Amino acid sequence: MSDTSEHIVIVGAGAAGLMAARELGSAGKRVTILEARERCGGRIHPLPASSFGYPADGGAEFVHGEAPVTRGLAREAGLTVRPIGGAQWSFDGTDFSRENPRDPYDDQLHAVVKDLTDDLTVADFLRRHFAGPEYARLRHAVERMVEGYDAADPERASTLALRDEWMNDGHAKSARIDGGYGGLIDFLAAGCHKSGVAIRFGAVVSAIEDSDGRLTVRGADGAVHVCDRVIVTVPLPLLREIALPAAARAKAAAADDIGFGNVIKILLRFKRPWWRERGGLADMLFLLSDETIPVWWTRQPDQHPVLTGWFGGPRTAELSHLDPQGLIESGLDSLAAIFGRPRETIAQDLIAASAVNWAHDPFARGAYSWATLRTRTAQERLARADGLVLFSGEALYRGRDMGTVEAALASGLETAGMILQG
Ligand SMILES: Cc1cc2nc3c(=O)[nH]c(=O)nc-3n(C[C@H](O)[C@H](O)[C@H](O)COP(=O)(O)OP(=O)(O)OC[C@H]3O[C@@H](n4cnc5c(N)ncnc54)[C@H](O)[C@@H]3O)c2cc1C
Repeated sequence: MSDTSEHIVIVGAGAAGLMAARELGSAGKRVTILEARERCGGRIHPLPASSFGYPADGGAEFVHGEAPVTRGLAREAGLTVRPIGGAQWSFDGTDFSRENPRDPYDDQLHAVVKDLTDDLTVADFLRRHFAGPEYARLRHAVERMVEGYDAADPERASTLALRDEWMNDGHAKSARIDGGYGGLIDFLAAGCHKSGVAIRFGAVVSAIEDSDGRLTVRGADGAVHVCDRVIVTVPLPLLREIALPAAARAKAAAADDIGFGNVIKILLRFKRPWWRERGGLADMLFLLSDETIPVWWTRQPDQHPVLTGWFGGPRTAELSHLDPQGLIESGLDSLAAIFGRPRETIAQDLIAASAVNWAHDPFARGAYSWATLRTRTAQERLARADGLVLFSGEALYRGRDMGTVEAALASGLETAGMILQG
């Protein structure tokens, strides 16, 4: 018999919140989602197809690694997950070269990292094992990956948490969902509606209070919801802003041991794919450089004339003074420097643009989490189903691809499972 008496409030309608809600709703629980934004998806942020020529992703875009929950959900929704194609290029300030994914010292890196038993930060790891001048390129590549891809700080990031990614060359198995991640969110939201889950938008939760075995959830607008249990799925920086009952507050303090990084993502749609005119670059998927906006990618294997710029990690703070227009201009400057074309010529071809510094998003305050040396212990504590206030979301995922949509979906599923198993 399903239990219809328990009322569960879920804070946040991102991937984790929707996944948990769908599970709990379909098991007969009474579920209300309170979402601060006027839309579902959180850090999955679809941009209009009318602007970019396809449903572009202003937030999450790639399916990383095996991602069994994501792929299973996509199958259920009838969405195709397509491997990305194309080559990785780099620009060293003078020349373009097709990246040889293997550094001459790669095997040595793999061997040392494989035998590692005690964790240490990435910066300490490089200082201890790869300090010599001959390793300069390798160090640069590792730091670029940790900062740019994981949005992490090498001085604090855990080497053990990242080693699988290094061993498998981070991008190796990436894919995209046809129609973008928005399709997955629409499917989850429809599933929630079908099982009676109520979703309230514009509902910024400011406090959760304990009163005689029940919980009172207070909104910034004065709204009050009384319930039996709460699942909090907000991004880590927002956790500190919600007043919690003492026990939950003590537990939430563990979040300080989980890193949270930032990303600036810029999408530029042009009249034509002018970069393909440059000899050899027709197959370009990723382009790595040391310009202000260092990483660019195309829609390969699709042919949309859109370039996406990416800047991740602690150094994004250097651009915190720029508004979206300033970021777009910075992106155009970087492309001008890389391709040796006047910025005005590139700008003339621009049809649509979007830029988000995710640290400026009031309901994200950054992009995604990464592991410090103390993160695994903190996650164990936070994910435990003790008490009436539970925590869920990408940052609590103990699997390999932390900070991903898969991490969020798997965490939501895990939290719902713990409640249903009683
Ligand atoms: C630019 C960028 C690119 C990314 N690229 C990828 C990628 O390619 N592949 C990948 O797998 N992952 C990627 N990610 C990470 C991925 O988007 C996240 O890990 C995942 O979407 C997080 O889901 P979540 O449910 O844990 O959190 P969220 O999506 O953040 O959901 C939490 C929800 O809580 C809401 N909220 C916050 N505060 C309150 C409050 N006080 N009251 C009520 N609601 C509140 C928020 O509005 C949000 O909707 C990217 C993220 C960013 C920002």
